[in-house]
Amino acid sequence: MSNLIIETKNLNFYFKEFQALNQVNLEVPEGSIFGFLGPNGAGKTTTIRILLDLFHAGEGQIKLFGKDFSNGREEILEKVGALIENPSIYKHLTGRQNLEVIRRMVNVPKSRVEEVLKIVRLVDNADKKAKNYSLGMCQRLGLAAALLTDPDLLILDEPTNGLDPSGIIEMRELITRLNKEHGKTIFLSSHILSEIEKLATDVAIIDQGQILYQGKLEGLHQQDGLMELKIELEQVNEAIEALRNMNYTISEQNGRSVKLPIESKADVSRINKLLVQSGIDVYGLQTSEETLESIFLNITKKLDQ
Ligand code: ATP
Repeated sequence: MSNLIIETKNLNFYFKEFQALNQVNLEVPEGSIFGFLGPNGAGKTTTIRILLDLFHAGEGQIKLFGKDFSNGREEILEKVGALIENPSIYKHLTGRQNLEVIRRMVNVPKSRVEEVLKIVRLVDNADKKAKNYSLGMCQRLGLAAALLTDPDLLILDEPTNGLDPSGIIEMRELITRLNKEHGKTIFLSSHILSEIEKLATDVAIIDQGQILYQGKLEGLHQQDGLMELKIELEQVNEAIEALRNMNYTISEQNGRSVKLPIESKADVSRINKLLVQSGIDVYGLQTSEETLESIFLNITKKLDQ
């Protein structure tokens, strides 16, 4: 089994009486791009703050690189680079000057500034003032700052949030390169399923403070019996109402079809019978491997039952 870079056991966290994290067990293997996926308010940022020792978990254990914070906090955090929401950048300074300010604080050789500028591909814009940077360039500058100490682990909170399509592609390419060419383990959070699907090797799904799935990305697609059913019909609204009454969750709808996650082929005949008995004409029933979207809906739905 590969080494675990992050390991948490039964992590609980409360904001006063509100339980934001409930028995969170994370296992992030060395060398992975680990996608931490969950809807807004699921507990991603709270978990990340705990991993960076910015919040202290009330209960549970955390190990980074096999050590807990009571046993060499500084030494552990030196090996971690983080990008949380908007990086703090001095807008009146250039990109290079911003990095120089941080370089002095973290006390690494001057040559490291040029190295990180190259990694994030900001060399050509390094002497522009940061106030003239696009959001994507600001994110890359933030990442360059996080890379100054050459950390083994990068923790990125929603790194593509707010970026335009080309910024998203650049950030995705940069994350992949940092993993493949520079050997960084990357823990990144997102509420965007397609983003995780394109980047991650491993994934944990969190909702309402609980981990609902954890493992290889491929494993998510191969979970027993998870399929998607596409039904072609004309009375879409009536069908949706009938399906919801039977506790199915609709993942997609348009003028002449609806899609929903199902657990087995038995659902297909059950649904067909139900719709016909309700006077709804069914023109087609087609099952397919689920998209990550419908898997996610299906997994998170179980919490509300
Ligand atoms: P988002 O993608 O919206 O940032 P998230 O998954 O990062 O969501 P968290 O920010 O970790 O979620 O929030 C988890 C839960 O804790 C939410 O219900 C949120 O409302 C609550 N919460 C977060 N910060 C506080 C706070 N300072 N005081 C009270 N409750 C909070």
